[in-house]
Amino acid sequence: MSDAAFQRRAASIEDDVDVLYSQEAIAQRVRELGAEIAAAHPGGDLVLLSVLKGSFIFAADLARAIPLPLRIDFLGLSSYGGKTESSGVVKITSDLTRPIEGAHVVIVEDIIDTGLTMAYLLDNLATRHPASVEICALLEKPSRAQIRVPIQHKGFVIPDHFVVGYGLDFDERYRNLPFVGILKPSAQRAAGNGS
Ligand code: 5GP
Repeated sequence: MSDAAFQRRAASIEDDVDVLYSQEAIAQRVRELGAEIAAAHPGGDLVLLSVLKGSFIFAADLARAIPLPLRIDFLGLSSYGGKTESSGVVKITSDLTRPIEGAHVVIVEDIIDTGLTMAYLLDNLATRHPASVEICALLEKPSRAQIRVPIQHKGFVIPDHFVVGYGLDFDERYRNLPFVGILKPSAQRAAGNGS
């Protein structure tokens, strides 16, 4: 594909979305979160637990913003529900590679919406006896909370909009946008029609 064709393709994906947080704004906030987590854990030896798939880009950037020895592990979760709603019924699609017993765990999550997924995850991790568990969420939508979960490290608080980009998807698309934006209803309808 030529450069011009590539640019046209990229622009058409970006046209589906109204930018909420630019690449630069996210990079700045991720640096601050990394410093905050490092200050809260001066001894290091953390386990960053990235919840897949939505947090993979955030976790990669956050890990590089924490100047401490740490391990990174991934937990695949999928929530049964529609394309824009989570049901709170969660399935572990791929588990951690190592035990977290006695470890200081920081869960890295893309967004906390109803809180149901995170409540499930906290209960599940508690059975594995970590020394401590904190949550670092890039985004929180408090107006939709059904369960309040303690978010020790929070990127941005957003209103009730369906957002995509920087790891977040709509029907597995848009994860590769470098910014976070609100998906236009027209794009949701187009995907619903299979176009
Ligand atoms: P919760 O269980 O808190 O309602 O939802 C958690 C999961 O639902 C998130 O990890 C994310 O996968 C998905 N989710 C909730 N709100 C949004 C949103 O605005 N955009 C996207 N792309 N996913 C969302």
